[in-house]
Amino acid sequence: MRLSRFFLPTLKEDPKEAQIVSHRLMLRAGMIQQSSAGIYSWLPMGFRVLKNIERIVREEQDRAGALEILMPTLQPADLWRESGRYDDYGKEMLRITDRHERDMLYGPTNEEQVTDIFRSHVKSYKNLPLNLYHIQWKFRDEVRPRFGIMRGREFLMKDAYSFDLDYEGAKTAYNNMFVAYLKTFARLGLKAIPLRAETGPIGGDLSHEFIVLADTGESEVFYHKDLLTLETPEQENYSATELQEIVDQWTSYYAAADDMHDPENCDVSAGDLVSRRGIEVGHIFHFGDKYSKAMGAAVAGPDGKDVTVSMGSYGIGVSRLVGGIIEASHDDDGIIWPESVAPFKVGLINLKSGDDACDAACEDFYGKLKTATVEVLYDDTAGRAGEKFAKMDLIGLPWQATIGPRGVKAGMVEVKNRSTGEKQELSVDAALEFLV
Ligand code: ATP
Ligand code: MG
Ligand code: MG
Ligand code: MG
Repeated sequence: MRLSRFFLPTLKEDPKEAQIVSHRLMLRAGMIQQSSAGIYSWLPMGFRVLKNIERIVREEQDRAGALEILMPTLQPADLWRESGRYDDYGKEMLRITDRHERDMLYGPTNEEQVTDIFRSHVKSYKNLPLNLYHIQWKFRDEVRPRFGIMRGREFLMKDAYSFDLDYEGAKTAYNNMFVAYLKTFARLGLKAIPLRAETGPIGGDLSHEFIVLADTGESEVFYHKDLLTLETPEQENYSATELQEIVDQWTSYYAAADDMHDPENCDVSAGDLVSRRGIEVGHIFHFGDKYSKAMGAAVAGPDGKDVTVSMGSYGIGVSRLVGGIIEASHDDDGIIWPESVAPFKVGLINLKSGDDACDAACEDFYGKLKTATVEVLYDDTAGRAGEKFAKMDLIGLPWQATIGPRGVKAGMVEVKNRSTGEKQELSVDAALEFLV
């Protein structure tokens, strides 16, 4: 992509409305534009990152055996009346009336909708286990939308729903998602800590939030320092026993958010206990027959008798992750994208656009990168060198390749690693080999 043909409305100054670094950098890097409070348009740079995150989330859900569907954003209120949540949900739910005076709502989550799909079609235990997920926009009329897309009103969520015959099966489904989440966040370049979460009136121990550490996080978390040294599971197709072992290992260390942390009953020594702020990027939950019972989702069991299915739900804040990754990975100059989600892998800087030799060398290098299918943003504009460097640092592409008059004479390209700042002079061929 040529910068001269791209749509990248960057800002030189810090926008006043942004209180935290990710919001500031997303606006400055031309990634999003506010439409109304908590509702955003995604501009090309932001959209590319959002799509990359979505792709990784999808790949890991698929790998874990979940099946992708797509449910609507607008749901009939009647489904929520069946579960009792239409009245309970309160003002976070955006309620809509259609032209026939039918009550609708913009889905804040999809338990009812997916349970309706399940009960319409699945009648036998032989079709279990089943896990259906979708990646769809949600709406929650948050009291205080803030921090840009981190607490939006309209936001993109991956939500999966598991259906099993009994608690044992549901627990394996839960563990399977737990492990898929560890893999997902690792691929996104994040250290995400699973915290035991409040299960509410249903009780039980099966609810975890996944938290990314960042100074601007909305909740305070307490955890044993060794939790951060655990290795992410990588294997495919773990058995139920292996899944349980991994979950047991990850949950054997103390970890709790402020609402669950109890200094009196925390047996971690002061030296081992770390307290930091964190952002909730995912949440998994086993809730048993809460919806299946209320909505009549049952299958014939092996003995022919009806069994109400045991369910869980598993959310990931796909759009919140864009901000979460920036919170975890930036410096004073701008964003530092992990390669897996970067909008482009390489930023090519022409230090002297308009100079025949520089233009020719850049065009040649740009063409070769494209031929090798490297995603490259080529700054072919007439800006000053200093401005170009600053812009590349701001938008945070993992690699910068700079070609200027001096390098052209020597046949050299300067390659910079955005994360470490390390620079090296390479011949054109060596630079290509390095970047591909
Ligand atoms: P929070 O505590 O931040 O309000 P939540 O517990 O209400 O989140 P869940 O119902 O667990 O959210 O939804 C699953 C995931 O969706 C969350 O872990 C989070 O990553 C994301 N999410 C929830 N609310 C928002 C929002 N307003 N804007 C962006 N992402 C959100
Ligand atoms: Mg909430
Ligand atoms: Mg929460
Ligand atoms: Mg939650």
